[in-house]
Amino acid sequence: MLHYCGCIMEPIEQGRRAEITALQEQLLLNHIDKAWRNVSFYRKRWEAAGIRQDAIRTIGDLRKLPVVTKADFSEDLRQHPPFGTYQGKARPARIHASSGITGEPRPVFCTRSDCEHIARLSARRLRAQGVTPKDLLQITLPYTLYIGGTIAIEGAIALGAGVIPTGTGAMTPSQRQIEIARTWKPTVLCSTPSYALRLAEVAEEMNLDPRCDFQFRMVYVTAEVLTPEMRSAIESRWNCRVYDNYGSVEAAASTYECERQNGWHINEDSYVFEVLDPESGAPLPDGEYGVLVVTSLFREASPFFRYKVGDIVALWDAPCPCGRTFRRMSAVRGRADEMLKLRGISIYPTAIERALRTFPELGMQWFLVLDRSSSSQQITVQVESANPLGAEQKNDLAGRVSDHLKQQIGVRPAVAIFDPGTLISTESAEGRVKTSRIIDRTAALASQQSPGSDAK
Ligand SMILES: [Zn+2]
Repeated sequence: MLHYCGCIMEPIEQGRRAEITALQEQLLLNHIDKAWRNVSFYRKRWEAAGIRQDAIRTIGDLRKLPVVTKADFSEDLRQHPPFGTYQGKARPARIHASSGITGEPRPVFCTRSDCEHIARLSARRLRAQGVTPKDLLQITLPYTLYIGGTIAIEGAIALGAGVIPTGTGAMTPSQRQIEIARTWKPTVLCSTPSYALRLAEVAEEMNLDPRCDFQFRMVYVTAEVLTPEMRSAIESRWNCRVYDNYGSVEAAASTYECERQNGWHINEDSYVFEVLDPESGAPLPDGEYGVLVVTSLFREASPFFRYKVGDIVALWDAPCPCGRTFRRMSAVRGRADEMLKLRGISIYPTAIERALRTFPELGMQWFLVLDRSSSSQQITVQVESANPLGAEQKNDLAGRVSDHLKQQIGVRPAVAIFDPGTLISTESAEGRVKTSRIIDRTAALASQQSPGSDAK
């Protein structure tokens, strides 16, 4: 059932390194020239850093420009509401916003040309994953400020395929989504990883078998970190291949998995990716994990120059067996701003997710509850069991999970096992694009509560 696709590549995807670098340099110099004239947010920063435009001649010179962060954009927005000066002078055809879990939405303008460019990158991504004009995509990602749904919809249309834009479970209830999938026979499911699993559960509750009662031949996922365990859980539940797609509003449709699924190819004709040491900010060599910094090469509005995305990744340029020469990015190890320092140890929620997924007795929902108010810095992992368990079984399982987490992340958390379906309401699982796994009670601990007593 799982098979490699026979996909078509654009010439630049297989370009020689020198060719790709020359193209990047040409685009970068043009991009910087426009930004210098039209985007005061950057020009002021660069001039303040003592940089002259003629000092930037090669891709390597990009490193002379200062890194910009979310905080820089927030400050610009505060000083220049409602859109800031970082958009430049181009008028938007569409306004998206950062898809962060917390904070005010940060607007990002896209001109018509930007929208078309992003749609082409998205079509390239789908093509690499075997989608053809014959396919019909059920897109359960929302068409909202969040750009991921728009990218999937417009990429599919640019490719010549058909779309059923059902949106999330909050927009089209999950049972209805399943009825549509059953009767309209879409061949590709586009979803977050957690919602792909939720839909499989709903299909089973409706006495359908996701493995054989549908026409899906692949699942396109995005918006959440896809762990290997989550990928194989979705593949076995739906009996089809899962392709992961990494991006953000600042790095829209920037990467894609090819049929070899050994890293995420970077669309190097549209973006430059760099990896920096999280503490010193120094560039890191290929293969080393650090903070991702992205530069766009095409945007008319809201260009990004050395924007610190914050995900922890590694890059490498070894040839891929698929024939593409675009450099590749590793799976995201975590986020620099989600990295928790507990008792001197760096912990990423994704490492916890990976450890939990090795227990078939556990369900998919979990949270990490932090209390750093005391010197002991308590952490509790709240996780659902796959099936209802008695108190003794829960204790036994909690002990084994805690031992395993100690081995994997170096810190022993308390573990609280919850009955299936009790840790998060169905509505919130379906309505949200991203799930934050961390509940920080450090600030809100007026009265001590037992772990998980308010988890719903
Ligand atoms: Zn490849």
